[in-house]
Amino acid sequence: MTTQITDPTQLDRYECRTCGYIYEPTRGEAVVAAGTAFEDLPAAWKCPVCSSPSSRFKSIGPKVGTVAGFEENAGYGWGVNLLNPQAKNLLIFGALFLGFAFFMSIYFLSS
Ligand SMILES: [Zn+2]
Repeated sequence: MTTQITDPTQLDRYECRTCGYIYEPTRGEAVVAAGTAFEDLPAAWKCPVCSSPSSRFKSIGPKVGTVAGFEENAGYGWGVNLLNPQAKNLLIFGALFLGFAFFMSIYFLSS
C-alpha cells in the first residue's frame, strides 16, 4: 500500500478499454483485496475478463457523484428505498395488479 486514502469510495475506478470491465476499488477483485487502489495493483495484474494489461485501463473517476449511493437516496421516496427487495417487489407487483384490476373494472363497466 502506497496511498494513504482510507476511504475506498474516494479512489478512482478504472475501465478496461478493451472489454469495458470496471475495476472497483471498493470491491477489489478475485486476487485483490477490497479497498486496493488501481495504482497499487501488482504490475502483472491483468483484466480478469479479457486479460488486457493494466495499461489498457483508463480512469473513470471515483464512484461518488457518478452513481449516487443508495444511502443518499434512502431518505427520499416515502421510505420506499428503505424497503428490502422482497417488500419492494410486492409493492411494485401489488400496484401493477391494482392497475390491472382498475383497467378490468372499466372494461366490464363499458361492455
Ligand atoms: Zn478487459
